[in-house]
Amino acid sequence: MLVVGAGPAGADLARRLARSQVEVLLVDRLADLRTGAFSSAALPWAALERLELPAEVVASRWSHWQLFGPGDQRRHWASGGPLGVVLEFGALRQWLAQEAGRWGSDLLLGATAHRSEAAPEGMRTHLRLVGGRPIEVISDWVVDATGQERGLIGDPAPGPDPLVEGLGVEWLLELPLERWEPWADRLSFCLGSAWVPQGYGWVFPMQRGRLKVGVCRLLDPARPQPPLGALLASLIERLGLGEHRVLDRHGGLIRSTIGRKEPHRRGRLIGLGDAISTANLLGGEGIRHAMTSSQLLAPLLCQALRQPSLADRLIGASYPRRLRQALGWRWGLSGRLARRTWLGLRGPQADQRLDGLLRGLEHKKRAEDLSALLFDYRFERYGLRALPDLLGWR
Ligand SMILES: Cc1cc2nc3c(=O)[nH]c(=O)nc-3n(C[C@H](O)[C@H](O)[C@H](O)COP(=O)(O)OP(=O)(O)OC[C@H]3O[C@@H](n4cnc5c(N)ncnc54)[C@H](O)[C@@H]3O)c2cc1C
Repeated sequence: MLVVGAGPAGADLARRLARSQVEVLLVDRLADLRTGAFSSAALPWAALERLELPAEVVASRWSHWQLFGPGDQRRHWASGGPLGVVLEFGALRQWLAQEAGRWGSDLLLGATAHRSEAAPEGMRTHLRLVGGRPIEVISDWVVDATGQERGLIGDPAPGPDPLVEGLGVEWLLELPLERWEPWADRLSFCLGSAWVPQGYGWVFPMQRGRLKVGVCRLLDPARPQPPLGALLASLIERLGLGEHRVLDRHGGLIRSTIGRKEPHRRGRLIGLGDAISTANLLGGEGIRHAMTSSQLLAPLLCQALRQPSLADRLIGASYPRRLRQALGWRWGLSGRLARRTWLGLRGPQADQRLDGLLRGLEHKKRAEDLSALLFDYRFERYGLRALPDLLGWR
């Protein structure tokens, strides 16, 4: 089995397959999985437990929500216990790949896959090593876990459910403890067109004295999209976090269809994680969903290897169906809400609408209710009658 991409989805799949004694080669174009840590990596507490992640990949815990904007508004919800964590994304990838190796998976770093095709002896995948040397790998199956780039499986064909794209940029800041502490135990978001048009900003705590500050904007091909770096710099100034050392600058794209109807396989090439739109656009969040896809695919692949005659049913039908069930019916609603809210956030009228939505949250006394809304997409807690308004159906 060849797994291309050692992100949360691919590395997790490799560890699960290797644990089940499947012969696996996990490859990634990165030469070191701790580098290029582009993701903010905030996760709800339940996901940390479900995915059995160790303390060494956790940078901080949080138990409060804090929302700035629109305008001068500031809202805050606190919980008595931890609501979630922020992961060290590079450490997560490294740990998962190490675990895969401990169970017997092979790991090839610094190798970029270009294409994969059916050959008489199985699937033939063409890779290029750092330095340019080409190699070919023959395997029964190939898993495309290359994230939103969809390096092997490709983008879905144009149609009524196109890819919606968000671009995020984030800086890792180092600051004195007394400046860090007010941000330490909370996820903070900056909302409203005066902060980030067509998107949102955030401040997430990392290890003591470190914060991740970022902005994400949904891409609208019909409008000019000024560079995000300047927007992030001004957000950092406004929050009073300027003049601190920037340890790292990173970012990336999030791309998902809303309906998730794209094919999850092409013959013996299977898509996993962000490569099949498991990233959620509402909060730009996808680690746990990518790992849900690996959790579901691993046993199906093991069975398909034992009983090749069932492969079509297991991989072609059961895999997309189970993944749809696991993500749940609220998935599509959250995507629609994200598209409507973020893409439309361009001026005072949209700010007013967003303010109205947020006012609806003020009567929620508990931070847990906010988590249920933003992580479990339980919009009905808003009140069922508000749903059509939320989604722009009236
Ligand atoms: C700015 C930003 C902030 C985010 N914040 C959060 C957050 O707070 N919480 C959260 O849950 N999610 C967040 N996400 C989303 C999350 O990071 C992704 O959903 C998640 O990483 C997807 O996992 P994956 O394994 O499917 O893909 P990826 O993590 O993208 O992994 C793909 C891997 O494939 C490798 N690769 C790509 N192409 C090739 C190729 N051709 N050959 C070989 N290797 C290749 C890459 O090097 C990479 O290691 C954020 C994303 C961005 C861009």
